[in-house]
Amino acid sequence: MNRDHADVIIIGAGIIGCAIAYNLAKRNVKPLVIDKATGVGTEASWAGAGILTSHASTYEPYPTLCRASLACYPTLAEELRAETQIDIEFIRSGTLSVFFNQAEAAGLIGLADRRVKRGFSAEILTAEEARQLEPALAKSIAGAVLFPEDAQVRNPKMVTALAKGAANLGARFLLGNPVTNFVKEDERVIGVVVNAETLYADTFVIAAGCWAGTLIYQLGVPIQVEPVRGQIVLVETMPPIFQHIVDGLGIYIVPRADGKILLGATVEYVGYDKTATVDGAKQMIDAGVAIAPQLANATFVQTWAGLRPYAKKGPLLGYLPGYDNVALATGHFKNGILLAPITGQLIAELLTTGEPSLPLQPFQPEIA
Ligand SMILES: Cc1cc2nc3c(=O)[nH]c(=O)nc-3n(C[C@H](O)[C@H](O)[C@H](O)COP(=O)(O)OP(=O)(O)OC[C@H]3O[C@@H](n4cnc5c(N)ncnc54)[C@H](O)[C@@H]3O)c2cc1C
Repeated sequence: MNRDHADVIIIGAGIIGCAIAYNLAKRNVKPLVIDKATGVGTEASWAGAGILTSHASTYEPYPTLCRASLACYPTLAEELRAETQIDIEFIRSGTLSVFFNQAEAAGLIGLADRRVKRGFSAEILTAEEARQLEPALAKSIAGAVLFPEDAQVRNPKMVTALAKGAANLGARFLLGNPVTNFVKEDERVIGVVVNAETLYADTFVIAAGCWAGTLIYQLGVPIQVEPVRGQIVLVETMPPIFQHIVDGLGIYIVPRADGKILLGATVEYVGYDKTATVDGAKQMIDAGVAIAPQLANATFVQTWAGLRPYAKKGPLLGYLPGYDNVALATGHFKNGILLAPITGQLIAELLTTGEPSLPLQPFQPEIA
């Protein structure tokens, strides 16, 4: 690569762009990662809760992708610790999904049965058994299902570790610089415009989260990617009162390794508005206190909002229609942290060998 020509330019230094950069660099391809923000992982990848969940009980392509990515985590966590000295706090905490009534029980027990029949794990618990695991749970819960394989990671640390790992292997980062357009020659993309200058590469990856749609439209490919706001409330109890991730009443509770507890998250179609609202915080706090009344006495720490990248078809992974050197990797919606390791691997394989180890066809970006 000379100074103004990269092998690969990745647009977006969120968890997806950084995972792709890391996987390319491991394969001896040195990408240039460009982000409009002045740091890596400052958007959804910072805001996310870090839950790595794989509840689905089928062998459909999407749950298969989720399970494959979860399976990457233990090795990746060790690898990143060795290469970057960053502990990404991968913890197999399991999820305890609580139910309060018959209707909720039917859904969760049905899911647990289907999972077990297909060889995955899930354990149906009485209210008493659930409270033995998590004594802070409300007396009003009717029972719970334990999904022991679920895990969590500290996503901001994970993005930093992926970026540092990639940089150690030769990836370059250009931060604080938005990509504003593409440069084409003979209908092929040959560069991107950054601060009125053209940066050239052989191949391009658009990993711009919920902003990817604007870039794709500039290439004349009308594939919609929308922002979906999620709000989170962070509280602290001393001592910590949960061991497992707990979900119920439409929210989740994540006990972090630093002792703080995260309550999340709203799902709001409000455009590119990252306001953390009183109503959003109230919803999380009301549901949290109904699940565990002790949370009413917790110390309030912070609240924030982030924008998930949503695409109707699910994650969009592969070359853009009409372009054999522009790949797209976005639309991970609620599971981008979970799906980062497998996305990084598959896109790197696509770019270097043309043969991803899992079929990308179900996730192929297509014009609706
Ligand atoms: C509240 C909340 C809770 C969540 N919880 C979980 C969870 O528990 N588990 C899970 O797996 N997922 C979770 N998610 C989803 C997950 O965070 C996202 O799917 C994931 O972070 C998406 O990563 P990304 O890299 O595609 O996008 P982002 O992190 O948004 O990164 C995109 C990057 O592209 C950059 N960019 C955009 N346009 C340009 C441009 N023109 N030029 C240069 N740079 C550009 C942006 O600055 C940004 O850094 C949650 C999300 C939210 C908001």
